[in-house]
Amino acid sequence: MKDYLIVGSGLAGISFAQTCLENGKSFDVMDNNSTTSTRVAGGMYNPVILKRYSEVWRAKEQMELALPMYDRISEQIHVAFNFKTPIYRKFASVEEQNNWFQAADKPAMAPFLSTQIINKTYAHIPSPFGYGEVLYSGYLNTKLLLDGYIAFLQEQGCFVAQTFDYNALQILENTVVYDGKTYQNVIFAEGYGLQFNPFFNHLPLDGTKGELMVVKIPNLDIDFIFKAGVFLIPLGGDLYKVGATYNWTDKTDVPTPEGRKELEDELKSLINCPYEVLSHYAGVRPTVKDRRPLVGQHHQHQTLYVLNGLGTRGVMLGPYLAQALFNFIEVGQPLEAEINISRMCKKLGIRI
Ligand SMILES: Cc1cc2nc3c(=O)[nH]c(=O)nc-3n(C[C@H](O)[C@H](O)[C@H](O)COP(=O)(O)OP(=O)(O)OC[C@H]3O[C@@H](n4cnc5c(N)ncnc54)[C@H](O)[C@@H]3O)c2cc1C
Repeated sequence: MKDYLIVGSGLAGISFAQTCLENGKSFDVMDNNSTTSTRVAGGMYNPVILKRYSEVWRAKEQMELALPMYDRISEQIHVAFNFKTPIYRKFASVEEQNNWFQAADKPAMAPFLSTQIINKTYAHIPSPFGYGEVLYSGYLNTKLLLDGYIAFLQEQGCFVAQTFDYNALQILENTVVYDGKTYQNVIFAEGYGLQFNPFFNHLPLDGTKGELMVVKIPNLDIDFIFKAGVFLIPLGGDLYKVGATYNWTDKTDVPTPEGRKELEDELKSLINCPYEVLSHYAGVRPTVKDRRPLVGQHHQHQTLYVLNGLGTRGVMLGPYLAQALFNFIEVGQPLEAEINISRMCKKLGIRI
């Protein structure tokens, strides 16, 4: 018998698998490559919500767990995918500069916002008011992480490239049986695929589509993440990721001409040099109506758990939520009310 069957190998599933590995628990990971959120993500980690100048919920705790975990994974799978890179927020006016300084004065924000305005000029980015620098930021090349981690799991003989069939799960008193194998627990980490999960699809997972492009911009020559309306992430060799759009009605993984136009219009407003679009992607972020994750135990089946709702910030949240769920299951540590799916029970008419 293995301890866990993990359904989904996106940021949520990987984080839980790694937590198991580091705590001596056995597991299998199953994935059918059906949703693309982790694969196409910008992969940025940023402790600050720049639109409102507020701290991300539990930013410090998330960063303290996530960044060392990604470093350990990187060593373990022999793939460099974590690029610690400052984010430069472009100022459009003196007022915006003042807002930045006011925010940097707040104790919660002070560690993350530099108080030096960056006045350096970059040939193809008009920015007369300079930039503010976010500290402790960077990005993961999520595709490298995903491919490297799955290859690692395959080597360990614990990756199953298959669609999880919910009807085939036998739920016994203290264990489950799937495909002839017995597991102690199942962790459902299917991202937006949760909509097909009959055990948890009553949860209010909303889904927000995002589109992103990889572009070539010769001579732009920036080594920071440039944030204005959209972000520009330097990938090296004149390549940049440009993203992302937000669409709350279309729930498909298909890139659209409208999404591309929106991104190109934003890009043209930021730089004044030619670029070439090399590729264009889309994915559905597993967002939740109350903007908090979905973590917890099924109200009837004690061996079934959900790890979802990573929303727009899966990079920072994944390891934090995985650790919280693991501690809940293995050492009985209560889940924080903000992330626990039990917060929805009353509204959904579920008795626990
Ligand atoms: C355009 C875009 C840009 C983004 N940028 C950022 C960013 O810069 N920073 C950031 O932190 N976050 C970003 N995000 C959000 C981030 O991608 C998500 O929060 C995160 O990837 C969600 O991870 P997940 O594991 O929950 O879901 P997913 O990545 O969707 O993984 C779920 C996995 O489950 C598998 N699955 C589903 N159903 C089944 C089944 N029945 N059987 C087997 N396998 C199944 C799927 O194949 C998939 O691999 C972005 C998202 C998008 C779309």
